[in-house]
Amino acid sequence: MERINLLGRTVAEMQDLMLEMGEKPFKGRQLFKWLYGANQPDFLHMTDLSLSVRHQLAEKYRFEGLVPEKISRSRDGTEKILFRLDDGNVVETVMIPEKAKKTICVSSQVGCALGCRFCATGKIGFKRNLTTGEIVGQLLFIRRQYGPDSFQNIVFMGMGEPLMNFPNLISSIGIISSELGLALSAKKITVSTVGLVPKIYELADTGLKVNLAVSLHAATDEKRRAIMPVSRGYILSELMDAARYFTRKRKKRITFEYILFEGFNDSFDDVLALSNLIKGIPCKINILAYNPVGSLPYNRPSDEKVDEFGRLLYPRAPAVTVRKSRGLDIDAACGQLAGKYLKSL
Ligand code: SF4
Repeated sequence: MERINLLGRTVAEMQDLMLEMGEKPFKGRQLFKWLYGANQPDFLHMTDLSLSVRHQLAEKYRFEGLVPEKISRSRDGTEKILFRLDDGNVVETVMIPEKAKKTICVSSQVGCALGCRFCATGKIGFKRNLTTGEIVGQLLFIRRQYGPDSFQNIVFMGMGEPLMNFPNLISSIGIISSELGLALSAKKITVSTVGLVPKIYELADTGLKVNLAVSLHAATDEKRRAIMPVSRGYILSELMDAARYFTRKRKKRITFEYILFEGFNDSFDDVLALSNLIKGIPCKINILAYNPVGSLPYNRPSDEKVDEFGRLLYPRAPAVTVRKSRGLDIDAACGQLAGKYLKSL
C-alpha cells in the first residue's frame, strides 16, 4: 500500500487523523510539532507518542519534503534552489542574506497566469498552483539543510502570484506561523501581489498579521496596462482603495514595489504621478532597477538614474528605499525566476 505523504497537512487535519486512529486529538498537535517544528520526518523517533501509534503512523504515512535538483550560489551570497516536484515541474526558492539576517523568497505557483511583460515567470505561463506542502516544503528543506536559524523573514515573491493560490497561501502561512510549526511570526512574512483587488480585501479580513507588498511599477493606468495585463481588470484608484483598507485593518503601512525601466517610468513626471497616487496611504516605496531577462524589450536604468529617482521621490513620499538587486549572476533576482523553462530566451 502506498503510504500517504503528510507534508502540507495542517494542525487541524493532524488532529482529525489522530481521531480517525482512535487517539486523542492533542496527539495530532504533537505529531504536527514533530514534523514541522522539530523537522523530524521519522515517526519512530517521536518519543512522546506511544510505540503503537508510532508504528501505525509509519505503516500508513510518510513525510517527504522537496527534492532539490540544483543549488546555485551568487557572488553576493544569494543562493537559488531549484526543486523538482513529483509531477516533473520545477520551482525555485531564493535565500537572500542581508546583514545578519536571511530572507527566503518563496514560490507559490509553477509559472504564472498574469503575464507581466517584464517577468521571466510570466513568460512561462501558468502550469499549476503549488500545494500547501510544496510551499512549506521549500522552507523545511532550507531548515533541514542550513539549521533552525537559517532564515528570519519570508517573502512570497518567488514564482507565481500568491493571491491566485489563496487557500494554499493561507494554510501555509498557518503552518509557518504556528508556534508548533515553523514558529515564524506572521509579522515576518510578506505577501507580494500585483494587485488582485478583491483578494487584498480578503487577505485583510483574515486578520493574519502578515505584511503586504503591492507591485506598482507604474503610476498611471495607461502605463501600468502596458506592462501588467492584470491592471486591465483593476484600475489604480480601486487598487489604492484596497491598499488603504489593508493598512487600516492591519494597522501597518504597506510596501509599494516600483521597478524602474529605463525611459519608461523613470522621469520626473513619473515621480510626481507616483507621489500623487500614494498620497495619504501609510506606505514605503521600494525602488528597484529592472533586472534584464533574456530578449525582453526592457532595459535597466543606470545606478545614477535610480539614485536620482529615489532622491526626487524621497521628500514626496512617506518612506523610500532603493533596493539592490541580489543574485543577478545566477538569475535569482526579482522577475528572473523561470526554472528551466526558458532556456531559449
Ligand atoms: S511579476 Fe509576479 S504576477 Fe507578474 S508575471 Fe511575474 S510572477 Fe506573475
